[in-house]
Amino acid sequence: MYIIVNMDTTIAAISTAYGESGIGIVRMSGPEAFDIAKKIFVPAGELKKPFEPKPRYMHYGHIIDPEDNSALDEVLCVFMQKPHTYTAEDLVEIQCHGSMLALKNILDLCLKQGAVPAAPGEFSKRAFLNGRIDLSQAEAVIDLIKARSGKSFDLALGQLRGQLSERVAGIRKELLDLLVELTVNMDYPDEDIEYLQYEKLSNSLLAIDDKLIKLLKSAGEGRILRDGLGIALVGKPNVGKSSLLNALLKEDRSIVTDIPGTTRDTIEEQASIRGIPVRLTDTAGIRESEDLVESLGIERSKEAFNKADIVVLILDASRPLDSEDMLLIDMLQGRQCIIILNKSDLPQQLFDYEILDDLPGSVIIQASMKTGEGIESFCDIVEQLVLGGSVRKENDALLTNARHEDCVRRAQKEISEAVAMAHLMEAMDFIEVNVHAAYDALGEILGETAGDDVIQEVFSRFCLGK
Ligand code: GDP
Repeated sequence: MYIIVNMDTTIAAISTAYGESGIGIVRMSGPEAFDIAKKIFVPAGELKKPFEPKPRYMHYGHIIDPEDNSALDEVLCVFMQKPHTYTAEDLVEIQCHGSMLALKNILDLCLKQGAVPAAPGEFSKRAFLNGRIDLSQAEAVIDLIKARSGKSFDLALGQLRGQLSERVAGIRKELLDLLVELTVNMDYPDEDIEYLQYEKLSNSLLAIDDKLIKLLKSAGEGRILRDGLGIALVGKPNVGKSSLLNALLKEDRSIVTDIPGTTRDTIEEQASIRGIPVRLTDTAGIRESEDLVESLGIERSKEAFNKADIVVLILDASRPLDSEDMLLIDMLQGRQCIIILNKSDLPQQLFDYEILDDLPGSVIIQASMKTGEGIESFCDIVEQLVLGGSVRKENDALLTNARHEDCVRRAQKEISEAVAMAHLMEAMDFIEVNVHAAYDALGEILGETAGDDVIQEVFSRFCLGK
């Protein structure tokens, strides 16, 4: 979607979710917001003089259509004066009853009085264009709204508060200082200035390179904390996959039965393990089947298996391993996996399972979905795998977004090339080109050097009213 922003207009939209709820909010932003609201909002009580709203104060009253004096709803209305508002423009929020009818009628009245419908994300886009937030902070707003776990929410909030922006702006400042020095050396070679030595240049570039590499290293963890860790649950029928899924979801969503092959298709569920969002795929068991419906499920299982960040193989340790189990174990070679030896509450066939000791990259847990044994250990291991056993500093600005990661990767490539050129004592103006490109690449994160297409793309992901 292409969003054209004419900042002279006043935009209006329903900002709360569609459907029935306790309250709903219609929001207006722009130069006419106060005037339009004053035409349709009538505060309760006798008015001695024309209504003058008190900024940031909840006014109680009614929305009245000035044409026929009909009341649309009983509301609370807040007037917020620019520039200290979400959009940095005059902003009005009308809190009415959460009925779609009330919301729609109030929105229509705002439009009739001169507001125009806001495009998705237009409030945030105005905040960006008015310089109140940078592009990465605007993206954090979408992430906040879409966050499904405590950790992803915290990350988005950190990004909105400017943690990533500060880190990126800091590196850009160093690049800018370097650019100034390079330019002075190039433009005024005969002046009595201190020459930029190649050694000093190399050291500065290496320090910047190091910071960019550190930022890139946080990207993998950041992606998982934002989008969720993909976990594929594999195992032949009846070993306890659904039981594990249910234990993790803490509610019975998939039907647990004794008949093999009931989970014919893959089910993807969102859950959270120790605050880490996870996407769990319960698979139909990867084995050859003559039943068409089941074999379709098997195809999807293989896909889920290949796409997953971690594969969890569940085996029924109360039974000897059979050829189906062996097929799955073979597929795990070279994969990071957790093997759950389930049904530890029943007599065990563990001697059979020594073969698993030869599987590098696997962690083995004895568990019982019946008694709950092993579930905590499973959660511990998932947490360790994601956080790499390291305790992350709360204020670590992580790269959570593929767009940001791409910008940092490009900047780092430019700087590593500049480092190589400085070692070879190449002409300063060649090095300057790379440093400049790195500076611009990082500027794209903040939106300073991002093209219109990038900005459109970012805001088209927003919902209406935000
Ligand atoms: P799936 O086909 O792999 O999804 O297996 P289910 O989770 O549907 O479990 C199959 C059967 O094994 C059900 O009757 C479960 O109650 C039972 N079951 C699952 N885990 C355990 C366990 O740890 N101990 C015992 N005794 N039974 C279990």
